Amino acid sequence: MTGELRCPLCSFCAPPTVVPLPCPECTIPIGYRRDLPLDLLPSDLTGEGVWRYAPLLPDVEPVALGEGDTPLVSSVRIGPQLGVDLWFKVEGANPSGSFKDRGASVMVSVLRSFGAKAVTDDSSGNAGAALAAYAARAGLRAVLYVPAHASGPKLSQISALGADVVRVPGPRERAADAVREACRTDPILLYASHNVSPYFVSGLTTLAYELFEGLGGRPPDHVVVPVGGGGLFLGVVYGFLRLRGLGWIEHIPQVHIVQPAACAPIVCARAAGGVAPFEREPSSTIAEGARIPNPPRGREIVAMLKAVGGEAVAVGEEEILNAQRLLSHTEGLYVEPTSALPAAALAQLVARGTICEMSTVAMVLTGTGLKTVPS
Ligand SMILES: [Zn+2]
Repeated sequence: MTGELRCPLCSFCAPPTVVPLPCPECTIPIGYRRDLPLDLLPSDLTGEGVWRYAPLLPDVEPVALGEGDTPLVSSVRIGPQLGVDLWFKVEGANPSGSFKDRGASVMVSVLRSFGAKAVTDDSSGNAGAALAAYAARAGLRAVLYVPAHASGPKLSQISALGADVVRVPGPRERAADAVREACRTDPILLYASHNVSPYFVSGLTTLAYELFEGLGGRPPDHVVVPVGGGGLFLGVVYGFLRLRGLGWIEHIPQVHIVQPAACAPIVCARAAGGVAPFEREPSSTIAEGARIPNPPRGREIVAMLKAVGGEAVAVGEEEILNAQRLLSHTEGLYVEPTSALPAAALAQLVARGTICEMSTVAMVLTGTGLKTVPS
C-alpha cells in the first residue's frame, strides 16, 4: 500500500502499518495521506459509492457492500423557513444504517490487505455494527467489547452479523481497556478502532467528495455535523482540503460542530480557548453517539475547527428531541437523536449570523432512526 502515516499536528511521518501507533511526539492518533493524483479530473471518476473515489483512498482491494452514494435531499420546510438553501445527506441509507460504513469499508479493506484474520473494537453502536458487517463480508472474525448494560437494536444487529460480543462490567471506558488487553494477549486480534484508525477517517473523506459532486461540482458554503469522536468532522474537512489541493474547489466550506450540552468537550474547549478537550462531568443524553467525554482526536479537532473557521454549538435534550420530530414530521426523514443535532443547532447558527441567508448548507444525517431504542 502506498502513502504514509503523518501526524496532523507535527512533522512526524512513517510508512503505513496495520495498526498504527500514536505520534511519538504529540501522543495523538496519526493520520493517513496518499499523494494527490494532481492530473485527476472529476470526469475521470468511475463507478458509484465510496470506491468511486479510489484514486484518493488507500490503494487496496475493496471490501464493499455498496456503501456511500447516499441521497442528497433538498429541504422543503426547515431550510425555506430559515432562508437558507439546505440539503440533507441521508447516511442512514448506507448498508448497516449509518455513515460508519464508509470508514469501516476502507479500514477493513486495509486490514485485510495486511493479512488480518480477526478484528476488534469497543462499540455497542453504529461503529460496532459497521465493523461486524464488513468483517463478515471480508471473512474476518470480529469481536466487539461492549458495556455490560448495553442492549437494544444496535447490539442485536452486531450479534446478528456474526460478531462475538464480550460484555465488560463497569463504565464505558472499561470496554476500551478490555480491547487493548485482549490485543496484548492474542496477537491475531487487531484493534480496528473507529475513533483512532487513520484508515477509518480516510473512508469518511468520501462524504466531502459526494457533497461536491451532489451539488453539481461545487462545495456548500457550510456543513453542519454532530461530533462525538470527531471522525466525521475530520473526514469532511480533510476531504474538502484534498479537493482544494486537486484544484477542483477554491474555498473550503465552514464546517460546524454540534454536541449535546450534556457532553460537549469540544464546545467547552473552544469557549475556554483550550486545546485539549475533556468533559469532566458528562451526563446522560439521548444523543448516545455523541457521548464521548475525552475524544482521542480532540486536539486535532480543535485545531482543524479553527483552521476552517467553524463554530462549535451545544444543544439541550429538548432541542434534540424537537429537531428529531421536525425532521420526521416536516421533511419525512426519520433519523436517530444523534443525527438530529445539526438540525437542533441550525436556527442558532443563522440567528448568530454564522450562517447567512441564501447560503448553501449541507447537514449530515448520520444514521437511521430505525435503530433507536423506543423511549
Ligand atoms: Zn505529532
